[in-house]
Amino acid sequence: MDLIFNYLDPLIIDSVYDSVRGSLQLGLCANSPSSSVCSVIADSKLWCRESIYRQSLSIFIVTWFVHWISSSVFFILLGTVCHYLYFDEALKSHPKYHKNQIRHEIYDSLLSLFGLNVLTVPIFVAQVRGYAKLYDFGSGEVPFWYEFGQFLFFVLFSDTCMYWLHRTFHINYLFNLMHKKHHQYIIPTPFSAYAFDPLEAYIMSLPIYAYSFLWPMSREAQLIVFVTTNIWTVLLHDNRDQFHTVHHKNVKLNFGQFLTLWDHLGGTYADPERYFAGKREGTVKS
Ligand SMILES: [Zn+2]
Ligand SMILES: [Zn+2]
Repeated sequence: MDLIFNYLDPLIIDSVYDSVRGSLQLGLCANSPSSSVCSVIADSKLWCRESIYRQSLSIFIVTWFVHWISSSVFFILLGTVCHYLYFDEALKSHPKYHKNQIRHEIYDSLLSLFGLNVLTVPIFVAQVRGYAKLYDFGSGEVPFWYEFGQFLFFVLFSDTCMYWLHRTFHINYLFNLMHKKHHQYIIPTPFSAYAFDPLEAYIMSLPIYAYSFLWPMSREAQLIVFVTTNIWTVLLHDNRDQFHTVHHKNVKLNFGQFLTLWDHLGGTYADPERYFAGKREGTVKS
């Protein structure tokens, strides 16, 4: 996010704040320049690039308009491509496929992306204010092997968090409160990728950002894992006979995201090929 502001501050944001400040001074302070509102408007510290108030407002606006709109457009485009390439149209006559399902999935996903983006503002503010261990790729702050090794560590960290968070959301109370919304889609399509309760989607997204607060992460790596995780989430729901499709058929199996490691350790792993072969032969009922 700070990369975006390095670019946008001199390009547009500085001049927007200057003209807003000028208009406020003109409109509110012409007659009573000593009022408390005018002293706030006159305080340059509140309007400078380092001000937490300006940063929070700028990040909120950029997140709301740019991040939400771009992530929604990206989601719909990728979902459309995956749907076209992989989704078996015959499934639309399956008794568990909902009437107007894709429309509902898109609505739920866009709503969840909106909530998720707004709730992520404090995390972006913390990153922009330097609380994360973000650095520029190749700046020499970490050994060279770590520039690439961090992707492996991120996947292990993210998968561990996601497996246990996902299992936690399957505890009856939380399942009924939030996660049931996602599992109403027993025949998922790529558009069910974000069809979650917004708060749950936010909690599930935390590992993407948490890594950078715990260990060094390059800004480039943060962007790559963000984009990759989003693509992966859509691909998980294209309803081919794959790992996560099993989870939508049987909620006690396959909780992982990138890896099957924790499902193997936790006794929840089902091999998708064998699972779906068993279903076709009628030996798997669920
Ligand atoms: Zn799912
Ligand atoms: Zn689940």
